[in-house]
Amino acid sequence: FQDFGVQNEPILGYREGSQERCELAEELKRTAACTEDVPIVIGDELIKTGDVRHQVMPHDHSRKLAKFYYADQKTIQKAIDVSVEAQRRWDRTSLEERVCIFQRAAELMAGEHRQRLNAATMLGQSKSVIQAEIDAACELIDFFRFNVFFLKENAKYQPISEDPSVTRNSLRFRGIDGFIAAISPFNFTAIGGNLAYTPALMGNGVVWKPSDTALLSNWRIFNILRDAGMPAGVVNFVPADGPTFGRTITSSPHLAGVNFTGSVPTFNWIWNEVGKNLDKYRNYPRLIGECGGKNYHFIHPSADVQSVVTSTIRSAFEYNGQKCSACSRMYVPKSLYEPIKQGLLAERAKLKIGDPTDFSVFTGAVIDDKAFARITGYIKNAKNNPKNKILGGGEFDDSKGYFVQPTIIETSDPHDKLMTEEIFGPVLTLYVYEDKDLSKALALVGSSTKFALTGAVFSKDKNFLKTALEELKMTAGNFYLNDKSTGSVVGQQPFGGGRMSGTNDKAGGPNYVMRWTSPQSIKETF
Ligand code: GLU
Repeated sequence: FQDFGVQNEPILGYREGSQERCELAEELKRTAACTEDVPIVIGDELIKTGDVRHQVMPHDHSRKLAKFYYADQKTIQKAIDVSVEAQRRWDRTSLEERVCIFQRAAELMAGEHRQRLNAATMLGQSKSVIQAEIDAACELIDFFRFNVFFLKENAKYQPISEDPSVTRNSLRFRGIDGFIAAISPFNFTAIGGNLAYTPALMGNGVVWKPSDTALLSNWRIFNILRDAGMPAGVVNFVPADGPTFGRTITSSPHLAGVNFTGSVPTFNWIWNEVGKNLDKYRNYPRLIGECGGKNYHFIHPSADVQSVVTSTIRSAFEYNGQKCSACSRMYVPKSLYEPIKQGLLAERAKLKIGDPTDFSVFTGAVIDDKAFARITGYIKNAKNNPKNKILGGGEFDDSKGYFVQPTIIETSDPHDKLMTEEIFGPVLTLYVYEDKDLSKALALVGSSTKFALTGAVFSKDKNFLKTALEELKMTAGNFYLNDKSTGSVVGQQPFGGGRMSGTNDKAGGPNYVMRWTSPQSIKETF
């Protein structure tokens, strides 16, 4: 292997007059000027069905960014056949060869394609420049580089051979016999790249259903990989209606795994379908999923108020709270209630919401009409419930784009829906506890939701931090002491949660690549 290092990709600053800002501004104009026609791609074939769809700009929903086509059941079946066929050839290519493709792709993403990825993410997913940069540039590039690094590290281990002159034992990584279905979300362009291409790195064939609302950015990833030398048919680009896709993949005897990020009901549905079809399969399909959270910031009376305020505003409202890791419930001691409340409200009032191509905007619109209806439904309910009080925000307007103002609610009920259900929007709810009830408040964290994705504890008291580490152990797969619950970095904080937040296979960590291989032990006797 050629070693190309494993440093995280530096985040560019996009300051006024900087080269990256000029390039991005140009690219935004180019991308917004036309509606890109995006076909289904199976092997070498570009397919357009009669089922035409559009990706619009969430902050200006009359503008169409991409036109695309839903694959029907027959077309999905064809993608399965092609990927199963391609996998057999692909698994025979050397690891070195595959690694080179990933390395080239990462360089293209970091260089000439960076602003194309950022522009598609800003316009299509309504991310601000910085949120696009940390996702569609840095995290995506990091996934490609670090997964190669982890693969190399894992391959260093070889089983022992007692007497090498008599026998030699070895372990080789094979792909899994069949195909992997990758079903990716809208909220991180990088997750699309990771879900579709990590199985491919490990020798698998993939049928990729990108999210309708991240279509263009995901299409650009697909094309970069083709430019980098990914052979046709290894990853097939198959936008489709969810249930049709799900039924077709789960009823195929060749299903070898599902790499999923999305909602709990959808992941549960996949498990059930796989269970029903178990007798048909050649392998036990690997079901890897990340499905959301109800993430918390727990504030101890000794916490630093300024850091609590800044971290919470960022975690709850960056990208409109549409991160699986976003803080949406907060436990505040009565003794710090006033300064924290005032701090949050003052910072909230400064957030600029609007067209994300304006570089001074903090966040754009929420992703689509369904998200707008769901989020505003929670806000409307809160307005009608005497236990809840809107402290700030609460306004919304979808006449031009799906805009929801960052909203802060106080509740007197720690088991209110606002404190227990995933909203996936810019809604932060805080519950105030009496300082003397600290342990009771701590117990609420783990007992009030079925999720366990991320959580953060703020305290200057070292003993309390130790207690929290133990008491809250099972409440978060990513746990932060005195820092916000979002913003995990590939290779630094491998990401994933337990309970109903998913299978916790830790994207961006060393074990993730191993989920996509079916290793073979070989004993040679001389
Ligand atoms: N890894 C991201 C973070 O820590 C969240 C990923 C997600 O939303 O699925 O903020």
